[in-house]
Amino acid sequence: MEGEMTMIVDAHTHMEAIIHGVSLDPRRRKMTRLLMWNFELMGFNNPLWRGEPPEWARIVIAMEGQLRISMSSKDNLLRFMDRNGIDRTVVHPIAPFAAPGDNLKLCAGEPRLIPFTCAHPSQDRWEEGVKEAMEGGCKGLKIHPILQRLAPEDPFYFDLLEVFAPYGRPVMAHAGEFDYYIVKDGYSAYGDTLRYEKLIAAFPQVPFILGHMGLYFPDKGLDLARRYENVYLETSFQPLRKVREAVGVAGRERVMFGSDWPESDSKYALRIARKAAGEDADLRDRITGANILALVS
Ligand SMILES: [Zn+2]
Repeated sequence: MEGEMTMIVDAHTHMEAIIHGVSLDPRRRKMTRLLMWNFELMGFNNPLWRGEPPEWARIVIAMEGQLRISMSSKDNLLRFMDRNGIDRTVVHPIAPFAAPGDNLKLCAGEPRLIPFTCAHPSQDRWEEGVKEAMEGGCKGLKIHPILQRLAPEDPFYFDLLEVFAPYGRPVMAHAGEFDYYIVKDGYSAYGDTLRYEKLIAAFPQVPFILGHMGLYFPDKGLDLARRYENVYLETSFQPLRKVREAVGVAGRERVMFGSDWPESDSKYALRIARKAAGEDADLRDRITGANILALVS
């Protein structure tokens, strides 16, 4: 790879992301500049609290998250990729807000976007939907217990993995307790990273990418990566020292840059990923693109 430019790939983005009560606002083109912006400017080092935020901050973060989700149009995604020097992004749909094949249609004709699939037990014929999506070109599966309102231990996820595992592709699993709504809906605890352990252990041949590494509790992601070879860590919202620690624990092949765009502006997570690699060009290429590409191409 010496002297060769490798592709910059964002392992975690959302397009036309829709959650309860939030739809696309085609006129929103700019990131909010509230608390999340301050975290971004501070490199996600938070001097104010440890773990989950106090209630006042949780409310601001939830509100900001909803406003950012409303700007997740294809146009905005491609514009931010151009601006931040990102060559490819993996696009994650969330069922039941999206059907298994929706992302194929959304990403069609745009080779810079890599589609994943999704499924929810409320969807008719979801098994066929997942098979058709994978055979049609999806490169992985997104699961999100909080937004899907399904416990990580729910038998549905085991059924889904039975259908999905034969394709030999990765799962992007949201990892980390989080309240998406200003009024709490009570599902935050489904984000507890350690609750994925049974699923990860049951499908050792499936790569599980832990989105955000556990978010407010990255040590949970590190713990699973230490104990399971099929666990990968995606770096969104993590500060430099945690990304370095992730490389120390999981090794250079199982850590990858992701932003969770539009929840964060990808330039900040990319900057941290590059810094974490320091002068090690091979490590930098791996974290900023090669590791995710190895799973999806
Ligand atoms: Zn996500």
